[in-house]
Amino acid sequence: MPQAVVHVLFTIIVLDLFRDHFLKNKRELPLHYVFIGGIAGLLPDIDVPLFWILSNFLGLNVPWFHRIFTHTFLFAVIFLALSLVYFDLNRKASRLFAVITFGVAFHIFLDWLFTGGVAPLYPFSDAVYGLNLVGKLSLPLAIEGLEAIVLLWWLWHEEKTHKISDFI
Ligand SMILES: [Zn+2]
Repeated sequence: MPQAVVHVLFTIIVLDLFRDHFLKNKRELPLHYVFIGGIAGLLPDIDVPLFWILSNFLGLNVPWFHRIFTHTFLFAVIFLALSLVYFDLNRKASRLFAVITFGVAFHIFLDWLFTGGVAPLYPFSDAVYGLNLVGKLSLPLAIEGLEAIVLLWWLWHEEKTHKISDFI
């Protein structure tokens, strides 16, 4: 992967920072869209349970296909196209699909950054790209440390900007 937690957490943090610091009207990106964005940040890894269902549940003899179909620009473009289709019909739906597009694209970016690689141009090209930071640092702990630092920094940011401790 990176871990599922990294995908959900990092996507939510980036969307939340965008909402806090770049968006003039926060109502354009309600908090539940940020939450849906976090789920979309995990969406490409749906191929893992899908494979499990196909092979273990339905007993089909399919080759392992993690990080192929759902980790491509094509998969992200499906949601981008939906966002564009809805642009004039339903602005809210359009925005929601834009958030999902971001979640999916950001997932592919994180996998590119941390893992041995993704093939974003599949099925047009099998070329695999990736910086494999986790492998290169060969420290699984490094990613967990990074997670913790990002989470703590974000909580500090939320406390500073929204005084979240008032709600606890
Ligand atoms: Zn993935």
